[in-house]
Amino acid sequence: MSEYFTMPEGYRCPLCPTHDDDDFCWHHLLSTPICRACSHEIINLVYDEKRIDDSALDQLEAVTGLSYEELQVAVLMPEIRHKEKILKSRDYAAKHHNSPQLDLDEWLEKERQELARTRRMVAIAKARIRVRKKAEQRSEKEIP
Ligand SMILES: [Zn+2]
Repeated sequence: MSEYFTMPEGYRCPLCPTHDDDDFCWHHLLSTPICRACSHEIINLVYDEKRIDDSALDQLEAVTGLSYEELQVAVLMPEIRHKEKILKSRDYAAKHHNSPQLDLDEWLEKERQELARTRRMVAIAKARIRVRKKAEQRSEKEIP
């Protein structure tokens, strides 16, 4: 779903600065271009109900100042919108069909299942954020 471009020689992806990359895309959370591999990795990193122990995730939270659940919402909402578009328009779907081992209908079925799972995860993340905010407000009131 991302548009990829090349960057001037010497530019390094801030999430994996130890090597050169060819394809970059703009990342809305980091406000900087990151490499193709990291852009896929970020989605996988937040695609779990429970936070996994991962240094890339530590880094992402530190750079953005967001909690895991807030990252889930910020990263997965564009994915949800993208999948909704795919399922609404066959033309759009055909353009973004990127799974050579599945025909368009099989792929759409997979996207439909992933959309349901992604929506559920975002709903859980939002509920957790709400619960935490309420707990924080309560503890603020207790301070005399
Ligand atoms: Zn990278």
